[in-house]
Amino acid sequence: MDIIYLLKLGEIHLKGENRKQFIELLRVNLRRRLEAIPHKLIVRDGRFFLYAPDSYDADVSSILNRLPGINGWARSKATAKDLPAIIAAALEVYKNRLDQGFVSFKVESRRADKGFALDSYALSRELGHEICEKYPQAKVDVHTPDTVINVEVREQVYVYADSESGVRGLPVGCAGKGLLLLSGGIDSPVAGFHMLRRGLALENLYFNAYPYTSHEAWEKVKSLAEVVAGYGGPMQLHTLHFTEIQLKIKKDAAANCSTLYFRAAMMLSADRLCKQRRLNSIVTGESLSQVASQTAENMRFSQSYTDMAVLRPLCGTDKEDIIRTARKIGTYEISILPYEDCCVLFSPKYPVIKADFEQERRSFDRLNLGPMIEEALASCETITVQPKTSGCKA
Ligand code: ATP
Ligand code: MG
Repeated sequence: MDIIYLLKLGEIHLKGENRKQFIELLRVNLRRRLEAIPHKLIVRDGRFFLYAPDSYDADVSSILNRLPGINGWARSKATAKDLPAIIAAALEVYKNRLDQGFVSFKVESRRADKGFALDSYALSRELGHEICEKYPQAKVDVHTPDTVINVEVREQVYVYADSESGVRGLPVGCAGKGLLLLSGGIDSPVAGFHMLRRGLALENLYFNAYPYTSHEAWEKVKSLAEVVAGYGGPMQLHTLHFTEIQLKIKKDAAANCSTLYFRAAMMLSADRLCKQRRLNSIVTGESLSQVASQTAENMRFSQSYTDMAVLRPLCGTDKEDIIRTARKIGTYEISILPYEDCCVLFSPKYPVIKADFEQERRSFDRLNLGPMIEEALASCETITVQPKTSGCKA
């Protein structure tokens, strides 16, 4: 039998003139994610009604839980606009919640069809009364009920209990496509998740330092990209081989500047790739003051090697918040696997904390890394990662 899922949109409703385009994009994104699942999707008056066989419920829920643009969703019963049928549906929905331990309740009715005989208030009262009659332990609580029984009178009547929460935000793609600098750490996958929720589709770029970093480190980054793709759909993962560049920086630059210059080289490469791939921004997992390379002065220095927008969604958050989100979205357990994505060999003991902009620009430019970066880009390896949706949700 089919389950009917009612989807609630959030921020899209705040859009004015161009709301229709956002809704259409969400529809396309959802259809893509449901490709392997037999389903019917009806969009009416800005409301999404999804029908899918109950045997696919686990897959459908995990997609809805992760799709940016959806604030919440509920499995609903649908009945004719006929009071006894509505009462039967409400009793069944309440019974389900009672079995799960939710006792106090309130009924919330909405009437899109004003022609229906009872108004919202009268309908809620009638259904509340019927529930209390049938289940003596049931108790109405309009302020802090354990469960809310929702009734929507439309072309038919939809009855459902509390909604599951979605990730909210806006449909992926409405803000164009950016390049996420994805390392194997905790921060960058979380940064990617935040930007997907703001509607930015992503490609990913990983700098590897093989053989100073292992093949497992790359596998870890790929697994992280798969979890992030659970929120945004299939996406590209580019791998740039950076070993030669790092070795040159280590050999020719002052030791305390190596991390600073490495970041600048990353920005330069990301800038080139963005322009080749027509991406509109660079996303990093940087957070102000987290480490020496993430001071305002050092970020100004690395950023000066690109004219793309550099988006740093974690800049003003603290590590505990980032970890909490990483756990929720399912990346944390992968990020803490032991395979390091950068080698201590390349990390100076006393890194420069506040770059002298003019001086460091001159020293970095003297390294003349341009040709090596072009070479690395020419042998860039790209794969498409598929979404992985089992496990946690945000
Ligand atoms: P994360 O910040 O993801 O936890 P990290 O702490 O090892 O990893 P930082 O030193 O904080 O990384 O680097 C700041 C940002 O630079 C990262 O969030 C990421 O966007 C980018 N970055 C660092 N190393 C790499 C890499 N090897 N490949 C791609 N991006 C990287
Ligand atoms: Mg970090």
